[in-house]
Amino acid sequence: MATTHRTKMLIIGSGPAGYSAAIYGARAMLEPIVVQGLQPGGQLTITTDVENYPGFRDVVQGPWLMEEMKAQAEHVGTRMMYDIITEVDFEGGSPFRALGDSGDEYIADTIVIATGAQAKWLGVPGEVELGGKGVSACATCDGFFYRGKKVAVIGGGNTAVEEALYLTNHSDDVTLIHRRDELRAEKILQERLFKSPKISTLWNKSVTSFQPGEDGTLGHLVLEDTQTGETSTLEVDGAFVAIGHAPATELFKGKLPMDDSGYLLTEPGTPKTVIPGVFAAGDVTDHVYRQAVTAAGMGCMAALDGERFLATLEESREEAVEAAE
Ligand code: FAD
Ligand code: NAP
Repeated sequence: MATTHRTKMLIIGSGPAGYSAAIYGARAMLEPIVVQGLQPGGQLTITTDVENYPGFRDVVQGPWLMEEMKAQAEHVGTRMMYDIITEVDFEGGSPFRALGDSGDEYIADTIVIATGAQAKWLGVPGEVELGGKGVSACATCDGFFYRGKKVAVIGGGNTAVEEALYLTNHSDDVTLIHRRDELRAEKILQERLFKSPKISTLWNKSVTSFQPGEDGTLGHLVLEDTQTGETSTLEVDGAFVAIGHAPATELFKGKLPMDDSGYLLTEPGTPKTVIPGVFAAGDVTDHVYRQAVTAAGMGCMAALDGERFLATLEESREEAVEAAE
C-alpha cells in the first residue's frame, strides 16, 4: 500500500554525496530519508580498487566503502528507502513533494539532489566484460594502476584530452584515439596534448571491440578506420573511454536551471539551486572534478545549508503563528 513519508530532509541518491548529506543531516537531528535509486551506493559500487579516498592507508574496495558510508548514515539515524524518485514538485516552495516508483509519496521541508552522473560507454563487445580489467572511464581513479604501461584514451573532447595528459604522469606511452581528425577540446588543451612527447594520436579510428589477452585482462583494441573501413589492432594494457558523461537530471528538466550538458546549476561555491530549500551536490552538478571526495564534500555542504534553511523556515513559521494570535 502506498505510504506518505514526511521528513525534514529528503536526499535523492545514495552515492558519496547522498550518504554524506545524510550523515550531517542525521547528526543535526533532521531525521533524513535517503531514496537510493537504481544503483544503491552509486558509481563506486561498480569499481574495485579505490586508492584516493582519504582515511585509508591501504587500497579499499568501492562497494565496501559505500557499504560503510551507508552503515554510518544509518547508525546516526538515516532512513534508507529502496525506491526511485519519478516526479518532483517544487511549486509553491517548501514543503516539497516527490513521488516514488513504489507509489510512495515523500513530503520534505528541504531536498538534497545527489543523483550523480553516469559515464557514457561505447557499447561495443568486451567493454563490459573487461570493465575494471583494463577498461575504465576514469583516469584520475584508475590511471595509477597503469604505471609504466601502455594506455589509450578514446574521445576528442576536453575530458579525453585531460585524461590523456593526466595519464602521462604514469605512462610514457599514451595513445589518443578519436573518430574524426579534429578535436573538439579547447585549443589550450590541444596545444598541451600535441606538445607532449608521451602522447600519440590515432585519427579517424573507432574502437569496435576490446579483446582480452592471455591473462584475461585487456590485451588489445580492434579499430576501424572511419574513412576507409580498414581494420587494425592496438595492443594496450589500459583503455579509458572518455566520450562524455550524462548527469541524472531528466527528472528536473523545466524545474531547475541546467547547463548545456544537463548539469544542475547552483550558486557558485554553494550547493544552492534557485529554489530556496532545494540543494544539489556531487557529480549531478559537477562536470569538472567528479570524485568521491568532492561529492562527499558537497553533500556535507548541502546538509549544512539545508539545516540553516530549516532554522530560518522555523523562525518564519513561529513569527506567522505569533502574528496570527
Ligand atoms: P553517484 O555515485 O553517481 O550516485 C548517484 C546516486 O543517485 C545513485 O545511488 C543512484 O541510484 C541515485 N539516483 C539517480 N537517480 C535517482 C532517482 N531518480 N531517484 C533516486 N535515486 C537516484 N572517484 C574517486 O574519488 N576515486 C575513485 O577511485 C573512483 N573510481 C571510479 C571508478 C568508476 C568505474 C567510476 C564510474 C567512477 C569512479 N569515481 C571515483 C568517481 C566517483 O564514483 C564519483 O565521483 C562519485 O560516485 C559521485 O558521487 P555522487 O554521490 O555525486 O553520485
Ligand atoms: P564532449 O565535449 O561531449 O566530447 C565527447 C567526445 O567524445 C567528442 O570528441 C566525441 O566525438 C566523442 N564521442 C562521443 N560519442 C562517441 C562514440 N560513440 N564513439 C567515439 N567517440 C565518441 O564530452 P566531454 O569531453 O566529457 O566534455 C563534456 C563537457 O564538460 C564539455 O562542455 C566540456 O567542455 C566540459 N569539460 C570541461 C573541462 C574543463 O573545462 N577543463 C574538462 C572536462 C570537461 P566528436 O567530436 O566526433 O563528436
